[in-house]
Amino acid sequence: MALKTLEDLLDEGVSGRCVLVRADLNVPLDDSTITDDGRVRAALPTIRRLAQAGAKVIVATHLGRPKGAPDPRYSLRPVAGRLGELLGAEVKLAGDVVGPEAKSLAGSLADGSVGLLENVRFDPRETSKSDTERAELAAELAALAEAFVSDGFGVVHRKQASVYDVARILPAYAGDLVLKELDVLRKLTGDPVRPYVVVLGGSKVSDKLAVIEALLPKVDKLLIGGGMAFTFLAAQGHDVGGSLLETDFVETARKLLDEHGEQIVLPVDVVIAEALAADVEVRTVPADAIPAGWKGLDIGPRTVELFAKVIAQAKTAFWNGPAGVFELAPFAAGTRGVAQAIVDSDAFSVVGGGDSAAAVRLLGLPEDGFSHISTGGGASLEFLEGKDLPGVAVLGGEN
Ligand code: ADP
Ligand code: MG
Repeated sequence: MALKTLEDLLDEGVSGRCVLVRADLNVPLDDSTITDDGRVRAALPTIRRLAQAGAKVIVATHLGRPKGAPDPRYSLRPVAGRLGELLGAEVKLAGDVVGPEAKSLAGSLADGSVGLLENVRFDPRETSKSDTERAELAAELAALAEAFVSDGFGVVHRKQASVYDVARILPAYAGDLVLKELDVLRKLTGDPVRPYVVVLGGSKVSDKLAVIEALLPKVDKLLIGGGMAFTFLAAQGHDVGGSLLETDFVETARKLLDEHGEQIVLPVDVVIAEALAADVEVRTVPADAIPAGWKGLDIGPRTVELFAKVIAQAKTAFWNGPAGVFELAPFAAGTRGVAQAIVDSDAFSVVGGGDSAAAVRLLGLPEDGFSHISTGGGASLEFLEGKDLPGVAVLGGEN
């Protein structure tokens, strides 16, 4: 079974038909202010094409992690507003997921207009482990529309009702964003132009160990920064003070360093502080000289220089995970330096990871300095690990 795409659906004709689009509009919020609207913008092409072809477009997405019940903190109200601004047309928000308001929204949309269902995770069946429960919600979602477009790349690694189960009920098609993301990631797993350099960071090694193992046989250099670097520094026998450390993974890190020491590049200096705050005393020390009680919160300037030299040689670069706690100004220089080096390189460059993508925009780097900024963190990592993505497999697609 070949993957059907938005193109196929448009060929079949959508004018006057209700089309359910699963997007990933899971944006970072500060109260009800969207701090980074990248995911909303990334969802526009598919929604626009459907609306322009006269479809009644019903968009479904989750936001944050509400506990399976309505919670005003996770309402999509701000998202509906921003989506409407970007589309230049009002986006009506239903006050429920598949209840009376959702039904009335679906029944009242004009051809070419767009409506949004309330946060799908307000319904506990969305993320249920029970196939039956998920199928039940999926059937109620399916009843709102005649076709389904899967365009939430950030969730295609999830077997959830609005991603996976609904695609088994309605005629289902891959949207433009999902196709674009898959296309880019295939370039990384296929035959990347060398040198192929990967920069990893972020907070947890355990989350990314599988991808590190899958990448090492493929990459020329793996640069490790962020909180995860300290587990590797500890594996080299250094004291990492109060830095993030996953003791359970030190042994694995040691093994990876033994087998792939040539490829792995670790920080040589780090920016440290006694507490995670914006107004504390900050020092830069060699990576093997972190005093007890101090935490490594960013890579230091010599490391940025070292990483930048490697990145400058790259013809293919993939970056996932900030090099430091970029959210606080004293610890943002490492992430900015890594990102700038990628922008300055002439590598085919991909950024994956919600926080990394947000960092690019929050630190004011030019988005067009990267070949692609992925909207999916977990999804892109699972793809690079070579795992099947249920939300893609259900459409008849493969990695
Ligand atoms: P992504 O979403 O891009 O995949 P992660 O979620 O893995 O990235 O990690 C992002 C988080 O890692 C950021 O909130 C950042 O503050 C944190 N981080 C980076 N470096 C450190 C560090 N040295 N110590 C603690 N946290 C860190
Ligand atoms: Mg993250």
